[in-house]
Amino acid sequence: MSVIETDVFIAGSGPIACTFARKIIEKHDSARVYMVEIGSQDNPIPGAHQKNSVKYQKDMDAFVNVIKGALQPVSIPPGDAFNSTLGAAGWNPPVGGGGLVSEGFNPLQQPELNLRGTAITRTVGGMATHWTCSCPIPHPEERVNCPIDRTKFKDLLKQAGEILNVNENEFEISIRHREVKKVLKAAFPNREIKNIPLAVKRRADNPKLVTWTGSNTVLGGAISNKRLTIRDETRVTRVVRKQGTLDTIEAADLLDLRTNKKVAVKAKVFIIACGAICTPQILWNSDIKLQALGRYLCEQSMTFCQVVLKKTIVDAISANPDYKDAIDKHKRKYPSDPLPIPFDDPEPQLMIGYSDNAKYHVQIHRDAFSYGDVGPRSDPRVIVDFRFFGKQDVNKDNRVEFSPFSPLDWRPGVTDKYGMPQPTFYVQRSADDAKRDQEMMEDMTKTALAVGPFLPGSYPQFMEPGLALHITGTTRVGLDKEKSVADANSRVHGFKNLWVGGNNVIPDATASNPTRTSVAYAIKAADDVISVLKST
Ligand SMILES: Cc1cc2nc3c(=O)[nH]c(=O)nc-3n(C[C@H](O)[C@H](O)[C@H](O)COP(=O)(O)OP(=O)(O)OC[C@H]3O[C@@H](n4cnc5c(N)ncnc54)[C@H](O)[C@@H]3O)c2cc1C
Repeated sequence: MSVIETDVFIAGSGPIACTFARKIIEKHDSARVYMVEIGSQDNPIPGAHQKNSVKYQKDMDAFVNVIKGALQPVSIPPGDAFNSTLGAAGWNPPVGGGGLVSEGFNPLQQPELNLRGTAITRTVGGMATHWTCSCPIPHPEERVNCPIDRTKFKDLLKQAGEILNVNENEFEISIRHREVKKVLKAAFPNREIKNIPLAVKRRADNPKLVTWTGSNTVLGGAISNKRLTIRDETRVTRVVRKQGTLDTIEAADLLDLRTNKKVAVKAKVFIIACGAICTPQILWNSDIKLQALGRYLCEQSMTFCQVVLKKTIVDAISANPDYKDAIDKHKRKYPSDPLPIPFDDPEPQLMIGYSDNAKYHVQIHRDAFSYGDVGPRSDPRVIVDFRFFGKQDVNKDNRVEFSPFSPLDWRPGVTDKYGMPQPTFYVQRSADDAKRDQEMMEDMTKTALAVGPFLPGSYPQFMEPGLALHITGTTRVGLDKEKSVADANSRVHGFKNLWVGGNNVIPDATASNPTRTSVAYAIKAADDVISVLKST
């Protein structure tokens, strides 16, 4: 087995891994960082947001397929795999032999307790290669369990906004954005209709395009620093304790997926930032089975619908002198276009934040996801998406477990496609969750109808559990060692040189998009890593 020596080992290459890498390289003069990612580097710029391609900025529907391709499901109960019309010569599951176990199928998964929409994006940059970039500041109720001093955490959230390049006014130039905002403000004068704080910047060289924040943005200058190595298509299998100790990690075991060869990395400090499922998976596989590991899992519920702008709104756009120049220019070029909206008018990007009397997060916008493409059903310029995200109460029993398969406790189990222990979900919504979900649906229906009637086929609906991709809590931070996996610095309890990062560290029930909060926790954790590096 080949052995690599470095100072800092980081598992994962998503925005959180990149926050650690950037901060350590910026604040430490000599530390070398070795980052390992199971997916491949699919863009010449490591971790770049794929929506920065002009192609997708011109055609949002095309990006839906990029996201679909990027999401690998985590746990699906085996379906009825017996094929009754297959000739008897073909292979069928044997009588009483259960269903299929490959491709994310998991015989341990009860459908009623599943988060079927949960998925992993395996590529350099993680999910930040396709995310929507919504970065609101969480409401104080969404951070009641945060073990970091309130003022300090506010400052960390501010710094996180800087690292993610969050801006609030990049879509103010949009006609639709301004009109939809006006209509909603008039319909709901007591609600705060705001621009979404987005990790995006309009391009100075061509303001018709924007640059969405990817993991490359998070890395900043560190991306070209010689002290950073990013190794792709390599699995982090486990971290290994130094012989004779319980509190010190000595090495990480890797599997190079191209050559199928094992590699060991020796380092001074180890950071696992592989997303909300794979971070606890690696700890489990390392036989670090803390009581709270995988527990206190929260996932946001999600309601969705799309509306077509009311005719009165389209007429108001035509009549508005503020838009006259833009509309005239458009009409000269496209006299047969029945709409007064230039083709390159940016999409609306609005939100209603979590509040004391509406405990959910609202996005009123247009964006590609793995669903919601408009296709030929309508002109995409008149479509507005409504996405509402609801929180889930923190509950110890809501959890992800990993199948009894570990190198130290070997029993035949099921593995995921990458040979790691198979995750199984045990998640249910409480009576209070259900009540809030119902209120959220009612509110979404009412809010959406103020803008227009529902697009046929995109009527108000609850989306597949897990599809929010905002799982939190599975390696939560906290002061109580029985109810958390890591301390306020995200250092794993009982270890001198092991940290975790990602939405999995968030100990709260949240409705807002979590990435900014996770970056805030990672900035604090990186300072702790640096202090340990300096003392060794
Ligand atoms: C369509 C979509 C829209 C989204 N919109 C928003 C939004 O608007 N706002 C928001 O806050 N969040 C959003 N998110 C979620 C956001 O992208 C995630 O919160 C964020 O990427 C989490 O960062 P991370 O670094 O913790 O994990 P990830 O980005 O998931 O990165 C983890 C990385 O670890 C790698 N990995 C896993 N296992 C191993 C292993 N064994 N060895 C080596 N590497 C491994 C994975 O391949 C992956 O690249 C969205 C996501 C999607 C897909």
